[in-house]
Amino acid sequence: MLGIPIENHEAVTAMSLSYARGVVRVHQCCSILACPKKRQAVAKLIAARKAIAGMYAVQQNPRPTEMR
Ligand SMILES: [Zn+2]
Repeated sequence: MLGIPIENHEAVTAMSLSYARGVVRVHQCCSILACPKKRQAVAKLIAARKAIAGMYAVQQNPRPTEMR
């Protein structure tokens, strides 16, 4: 976020919903398989029904190219 490199991808002992939302935003470029913190945050949001399972793909697809 803001060009600052993310240094800590480790899961935390407790995560609030608002913190989970922030983690998902900050770790948006992380793979959910490689980043335990993002995985924990997504699981938290899914458990709270704030995210749909499958919403966070393992590998994000590139945007489709625009039709010309
Ligand atoms: Zn991460």
